[in-house]
Amino acid sequence: QDQLGATLPPIYHNTSFSHSAESLEAIFKGREYGYLYSRIANPTVVSLESHINKIEQGRGAVACASGMAAFHLILMGLTQSGDHIISSTSLFGGTYYLLKEMADFRGIDVTFVDTLDIAAYQAAIRPNTRAICIELLGNPKLDVAPIHEISSLAKSHNCPLVVDHTVTTPFLCSAKDLGADVIWHSATKWLSGSGSAIGGIVVDTGNFKWSSLSSGPVSEFSSFGDLAFLTRLKKSRSNIGCCLPATSAFQIQVGSETLSVRLQKQCQNAMALATFFETHEDVNEVGYPGLVAHPSHESAKLYFREGYFGSLMTIRLGSKERAFKCINALKIAHNLANIGDVKTLVIHPASTIYRDLTPDQQADAGVFDDLIRISVGIENSDDLIQDFKQAFEAIDSE
Ligand code: PLP
Repeated sequence: QDQLGATLPPIYHNTSFSHSAESLEAIFKGREYGYLYSRIANPTVVSLESHINKIEQGRGAVACASGMAAFHLILMGLTQSGDHIISSTSLFGGTYYLLKEMADFRGIDVTFVDTLDIAAYQAAIRPNTRAICIELLGNPKLDVAPIHEISSLAKSHNCPLVVDHTVTTPFLCSAKDLGADVIWHSATKWLSGSGSAIGGIVVDTGNFKWSSLSSGPVSEFSSFGDLAFLTRLKKSRSNIGCCLPATSAFQIQVGSETLSVRLQKQCQNAMALATFFETHEDVNEVGYPGLVAHPSHESAKLYFREGYFGSLMTIRLGSKERAFKCINALKIAHNLANIGDVKTLVIHPASTIYRDLTPDQQADAGVFDDLIRISVGIENSDDLIQDFKQAFEAIDSE
């Protein structure tokens, strides 16, 4: 609450902040605290940063234009040409494409490993490995990374563990308590929750001692001690200009206030749908870690809030043609490229987000030609089941 009693931040919809000549000089030189220019910092964005940082119980946060911008900032902060990073293969397509660009054109060597294969992470470690990157719950493979083991490995090599926490969200678990050093979110998804704003945020969990790094982009800010990583990221955000608009920061902050109630309902709906799919003859396979038969069920139980398994799932219908027919017959679920909305969303990943991957790379990411990804919303669960039931009937009647 501010001095006027407002419980939400004002939207500072301005590019620049006016000061005396002396103050402007002092702020630019870092001798005085103040706002200058919204590409560098904006009070509404700072409000979002401290709000999300409080939820994640971190050391600090940096918000930016999108989830991809957040990951780009992390890579800019941790690596320089000649460095190496390890990433699991169970990734959102955009994350894979950015890592590939880093490898192909920016001089960063990337080793991809199977998310679950801890020996492969171990074997991939090199003296110049600067980060291990995972999605805790892979989108759309839905395998749960063995984060405790990966975190121990990263620690023993003094290498930060970077976790995309978009799909798991702080509702399902504390990535910080599980060992993440750096968390990032596509705030476009569950944090905002209504598909109304593109945004990203990086949280420094406080688990890593940045002062232990003697070289690389973070060490340029070693005079900031363990705030060096956040300072590096803010500088890079300003340099490349991937700032978050104040209106988007406001929308994401408002959305994040309902994160836990949305997630409770979404997880309950997802469990109901998965249970329906599990026994339906049209569904060849259901990917949902809440099901006892799912290979990651035990890990999900170990890491996630008791009784909750997230709201992302996949179904395989036997052919691309059947998957397309199902998508087109749905009346409640929307076919679009997003997840984490209050509305139920579906997509055919192989022909859209993962179109540029080879069939083998697609399989590594959990993508198949007959697979539909479903991001379950907060609608009535019986209505959702009925929607898929009538879509399956429509396929079968043709
Ligand atoms: N990480 C995950 C798991 C995602 O699903 C997405 C987008 O779909 C991103 C990152 C990228 O986020 P954005 O679209 O906000 O750049």
